[in-house]
Amino acid sequence: MRASTTVILGGGVGGIVAANELRRRLPAVHRIVLVEKNAQHAFSPSFVWVMTGARRPAQIMRPLRALVPPGVEIVQAEARALDLDHQRVAADGISLAYDYLIVALGAELNGNLIPGLSEAADTFYSLSGALRLRQTLESFSGGRVAVVVTRSPYKCPGAPHEAAMLLHELFRRRGLRGKVDLHIFTPEPQPMPDVGPALGQALRGLLAERNIGFHPLHKLVAVNPGSRELVFEEAPSVPYDLVLVVPPHCGPRLTQQAGLADDSGWVPVDPATLATRHERVFAIGDVTALQTPGRWHPEVPLFLPKGGVFAHGQGQIVARRLAAEIAGATPRHVFRGRGFCVVDAGQRRAVAATADFFGVPSPKIRLHQAARVWHCGKVLFEQWWLAPLGFRREILRLMLSLGCGRLGLEM
Ligand SMILES: Cc1cc2nc3c(=O)[nH]c(=O)nc-3n(C[C@H](O)[C@H](O)[C@H](O)COP(=O)(O)OP(=O)(O)OC[C@H]3O[C@@H](n4cnc5c(N)ncnc54)[C@H](O)[C@@H]3O)c2cc1C
Repeated sequence: MRASTTVILGGGVGGIVAANELRRRLPAVHRIVLVEKNAQHAFSPSFVWVMTGARRPAQIMRPLRALVPPGVEIVQAEARALDLDHQRVAADGISLAYDYLIVALGAELNGNLIPGLSEAADTFYSLSGALRLRQTLESFSGGRVAVVVTRSPYKCPGAPHEAAMLLHELFRRRGLRGKVDLHIFTPEPQPMPDVGPALGQALRGLLAERNIGFHPLHKLVAVNPGSRELVFEEAPSVPYDLVLVVPPHCGPRLTQQAGLADDSGWVPVDPATLATRHERVFAIGDVTALQTPGRWHPEVPLFLPKGGVFAHGQGQIVARRLAAEIAGATPRHVFRGRGFCVVDAGQRRAVAATADFFGVPSPKIRLHQAARVWHCGKVLFEQWWLAPLGFRREILRLMLSLGCGRLGLEM
């Protein structure tokens, strides 16, 4: 067997899972190189808890080195160019040759696409933004609070609703809720449109119970920090006292420059194998545009939502397929578009949904009522993700004993 080198670009959720799974399956003679610009990994589903003060940053960060085994080489550098013809990656002065490439670079957030946004708004979509919001919220004494989704697609379409419900809870606990007018604005027609009408209706109900205004079909075109106004396309402007945003998401420049992305800026992949149009190059997670076979409306093509749960599952599948191919066997594992979503609703309860996104004629979604078990599952998943590699089994056992197996966990 010839020794091979697999380079994984991006050591976030998808890259970490792919590196672990590949190392478990491949003999040591095969190199696995993980290229990541940050030495520390931050677990983004917990950013909303940093915002509300339920977590300190140190509680949700780990050195990347602690999350992958010693047999994975980490190159801490920014990947700057991809030469697909010669199978090379340039990263901060280093040139890496690969036999197989897994692109797991995630999405880039760009607040500068909307005038006034970066000056006026903060975001819980980054750790630094969540921390600044926590400080702002500590001295906030009331007024209109707007959670604004700027553009689709964006990662974790449950997160803005979760953030609004956790803000409701925070203000209630501080005795401020009566002084806060809380709203969500989004260009989408309903909450989480890709997950279908039933979940949208359920989330609308939860928001209404908490007196959180939900304003669909509001596309933000500018923020005016002077007059403290949100300016929408084809809808009246709205005054605000505090604005929290989901910034516009773009495909990474690197994949666009290399010709891996299509006109949307995202990388098209085969839904089952995650193969790109280039031989031996795969893409997983948020960087991809994965069109699903079913749809909710006959006219509107449906893409898999961007979420850690899918980056995780795709990382496992690509690693298993590559390990088989390198061993000279026929790869049999295929990605089936299954995942779950848990949205924290406050008071230690969460709603959950499991989804088969490749269902036809439309994805098959199963909703689970708001319950404490899903909140506990979300906390335990966070602990599982951040635990030293040797300690994860016990946490998984605990999750399964609580009934979280109903989410279809495969960790
Ligand atoms: C507030 C919030 C809440 C969320 N909640 C959930 C949730 O409850 N459930 C869920 O499933 N998902 C959730 N997500 C989404 C989830 O975090 C992402 O979908 C997931 O991280 C995607 O994984 P990925 O590997 O594709 O990208 P990422 O995890 O973003 O990893 C990309 C990595 O590439 C690195 N990188 C980028 N460019 C370069 C370069 N040029 N050179 C080197 N390294 C580079 C980045 O530093 C990063 O580490 C949430 C996200 C946010 C922001």
